[in-house]
Formats: sequence, structure tokens, C-alpha cells
Amino acid sequence: MNGLVPDRQLNIVDILRHAVAVHGQRQVVSVDAHGKTQRCSYRELGGRVAQLARALTDLGVKQGECVSTLAWNDQRHLELYFAVPALGLICHTVNPRLFSEQLSYILADANCRWLFVDPQFMPQILPLLPNLTALKGVVVLTEPEQMQGVWVESAPALQWHCYDSLLLGQADSFEWPTLNENTPSGCCYTSGTTGNPKGVLYSHRSTVLHSMALALPDAGGLSADDAALVIVPMFHVNGWGLPYAALMVGANLILPGRFMGDGACLAKLIDTEAVTIAAGVPTVWQALIAHMTKHTRVFSRPLKCMVGGAACTEKLRADLEQLGGQVRPAWGMTETSPVGAVNRAGHGRHRLSPGQPVFGVELRVVDALGQTLPNDGESSGELQIRGPWIARGYIGKKDADEFLEDGWFSTGDVACLFSDGHLHITDRAKDVIKSGGEWISSLALEEVASGYPGVAAAAVIAMPHPRWDERPLLLVTALEQATIDQDNLLRWFDGKVAKWWQPDAVKVIDTFPLTATGKVDKKVLRQQYAIPES
Ligand code: ADP
Repeated sequence: MNGLVPDRQLNIVDILRHAVAVHGQRQVVSVDAHGKTQRCSYRELGGRVAQLARALTDLGVKQGECVSTLAWNDQRHLELYFAVPALGLICHTVNPRLFSEQLSYILADANCRWLFVDPQFMPQILPLLPNLTALKGVVVLTEPEQMQGVWVESAPALQWHCYDSLLLGQADSFEWPTLNENTPSGCCYTSGTTGNPKGVLYSHRSTVLHSMALALPDAGGLSADDAALVIVPMFHVNGWGLPYAALMVGANLILPGRFMGDGACLAKLIDTEAVTIAAGVPTVWQALIAHMTKHTRVFSRPLKCMVGGAACTEKLRADLEQLGGQVRPAWGMTETSPVGAVNRAGHGRHRLSPGQPVFGVELRVVDALGQTLPNDGESSGELQIRGPWIARGYIGKKDADEFLEDGWFSTGDVACLFSDGHLHITDRAKDVIKSGGEWISSLALEEVASGYPGVAAAAVIAMPHPRWDERPLLLVTALEQATIDQDNLLRWFDGKVAKWWQPDAVKVIDTFPLTATGKVDKKVLRQQYAIPES
């Protein structure tokens, strides 16, 4: 016999319904293309999402079809986040910073039917349109005055629409279908630092459960008293789930539009919108810190700073704390929706750890033979994860090696676990430096280097070496007006790491190449700098 409760399906549209019914006065605040701030209550948003659903229905969409977006963090994108899955379609958020070959690959692989594009990304997208055979049309995320005839002329066989015109005059209510909770809802591709990008397909169930987990006190700690600033792109792993979680609890949602990397804009939003929580990768936080330090400002109220996507260094933690931030390092990846672990307290040796797994996911580390290692804070191996919002396959790739029996997913990260579940990430398997048969953690060396006065950012890569196979090469960028003495910087490692871990050489460079998600691109660094000495 089953429990005496209804078998009610978890649907994304219920998050919106709840926001409208219970938190109707709370707001989404969105910065538009011209830098103007727009406000919309959740009640109004519900109406807009219904209008969009009607417009999509008029376009003739069918359940299961893929609707792709190339869009910033703004209100229109949020409307798509709800209307598309609520109709039983797949909301495929595409990273516009990808190379055109990757964009073509991703759009074709996802079988994109409709493309919703911000006008700013038109130059990238226009040349690709003729090759997208499944594509029916393009909707430009703009007002009618901004539509341009040349776009239409470049692909006349497609249907072309202006987003605002499509919604105009539509009724602001909709009879939402009840979907099986396992219906696919969203799709995101890993940025493909190895090989072609791989498509991850989320479901209504995984998205709703993930939103609840993110809102938990020791994870994002979100409530109706909060204002959440999303400085992780909404084209990257659902903006780490914040847009859904914020509406679920009635937190205001602050979307910086195309100004995500603009320290001045972020600082202003944090102040004027009384932001209490923000989430981003270290490079975005650094842009904000640089702006605030230059203008000798601090946060005017406590701000929870979720740092994820890459390791949080002691320097970043200290800089944010100095501004009044409460730092919460977090770990996750596209395949994990993304939240896997969050560090709420950050004491002692776990200060920089991405914390403990959130309820719902399990973590383990395994050795090269796949044997589970003890959670003793020392045994290091590949990190594996499983849970209701962890991917169990990639689109169109049967039998991918990453997916194991019993729902375990191999992350490709090297880590160790403590007895209370605290997670320490040592490296990505492909970034580890293999010197004389032993492993050197590039992350640990970067952590030391980033504490050296004058260093803005650091990355360590493997240099091919005739005797040791690989040796660490340290690359750094300098803070404005700082000069870095390379010998002194190398000596800085004395006593901080084992002698044989110390980098063989250091290079000061102007800027780091960044991946499409704003992380330091080690693949490019290796191509540029890891050249064996002749
Ligand atoms: P990609 O970086 O390939 O675009 P993801 O955004 O999915 O894809 O990145 C996930 C990876 O980011 C993880 O596998 C891990 O290597 C790294 N990462 C995420 N959070 C942390 C963290 N807190 N500390 C160290 N590395 C992290």
C-alpha cells in the first residue's frame, strides 16, 4: 500500500503559481539593454508568462520541442524560464560566448526549433541560421522599434518575430497543463573544455527539488526577506538555480542584464535593491571587489556571497569579508544542476572548502580501480556524486563513461572527504600535474600564489618535462600598479608547500584567457605556455 497522500507531480509552473499567489508583491528587478532598471511584481510576471505561453501556442509549438535562448540575465529570459517548460517544451539556454562551431553544434544537437535571441547576439547567430535544419523561426528579445530588416533578409525562409509584439494583446491567463514530473524542462551544455560540448537535460522534478535544496538555510538560505542578485549567467546551469529558488520562496530577484561583469553596476544594484545574497564565479566577484576597493566602499548591509564554479581562494574570501560579505563557497557543475555542496560556516581548516553535501545528494571518492576510499580527510581520489538532480546521461550519447551503476556520476574532479562530509577539491583530473609519478595540485599552488602581495590572479599548468614528465609552471597577473619580482614570488612558496611541489618557473602575463563561463581557460594557457624547452 502507498502512503495516503496524492501522487501530485512536481511541475515548474507551480513555483510561478505560488509566487503569484503568496508573494505577488515581490519583484523581479531587471536592467535592460540601455542600462535602465525595470520592475515587475511577481503577480505581473505571472501575467507576462501566460501571455508568452499563448504566443508560443500561436506559433504552433509541440510538447517536447526545444526552444533555445541566447539571452542575458533579464526579465524576458525569466519569462522564458517559466513559460517554455510549463508548456512541456525544453528551455535550452545557450552560452553566447561560445565559438561559432560550438554554437552550431549545440543548436543542432539539441534539435532547436525556435531561437529567442537578444539583439546583441545577432551577429554571432545570423551566419549559423542556414545550417539549422530543424529551426522554424527566430524571436528577437526586443521592442518593435529595434527590429532590423537585414536580419530577416539574411534568412528569409524562417519565421521572424519581435518578442514584445508577440506578447502584445495576448490574454494574461493560461490553463497550464499538468505534466508528468519527469518531462524534460531545461537543457544546458557543458562548455566542452574536453571534446564537444555535452548536453544535460533537466526535468521538472529535478528542477523543483533542486530549487528546494538551494533555498535550504545552510545552502543558499533564501527566504521572502531576501533579495537575490544573479551574477552567474542564466545561460549557465540555470543561473545556478537562483531564478527558480527565488520565486519559490518569494525573494526579490535582481537581474543585471548585460552588465554582469560591470563592478559599478553590480555595486549600485546591491545598494539600491538591498541585495542580501549574490552568487557568482571568482572572476565576477573580483570585478566587484576592484570597483568597491577603488571607491573605498563596503556593502551597506550583510551580503551572503556564494562563490562557486572554481575554487575560492583565501585572498578572495578575505577581500569579500573586508567589504562586509559572508562568504559561502559552493561546489557544483552543469551535470549536478548545479548545487552539490555549500560551505555555510567556513571555520578553521574548512575555511575554503566548498562545504558539505546538501540534503539529497551523496558524495564519495574512489581510487583508480573504482574502490570507495575512506572519508578520512586524506585519501584523495575521483569525486563521484548521485542524487535526484544529478544527470544520468548526456543527450544523444549512450553509454558515456561518466555515468556508472546505481546513479553515480564521475565528476572528473579530484577530491577528499572528511568524516562529517566536508569536501576538499584538490584539482580537476585533467589539471593535476603529474610529476615523477606523484600528483601536484594546481589549485593548492594557485592558493599560495594568490596570497602574494600584488598578485591579481594565478593559474598553474603542467609543463612537459624530460625527466619528471610534468612540472608546474605558475602564471600570474599583477594588480594595477604592482610589479612582481619573479624570484621573490617563487621563494614565497618556501615552507608553504613541499619543495618538490614548488613551481619551476613563473611568468607574469597581462590577462588570463577566460572560458565561456568566465573561468580561467587552462586549455588555452597550455597551448600558449606549456611548450617544452628545446
Ligand atoms: P565548465 O567549467 O566545464 O564549463 P562547469 O561549470 O560545469 O563546467 O564546471 C564544473 C567544474 O568547476 C567542476 O567540475 C570543478 O572542477 C569546478 N568547480 C566548481 N566549483 C568548485 C569549487 N568550489 N572549487 C573548485 N572547483 C570547483
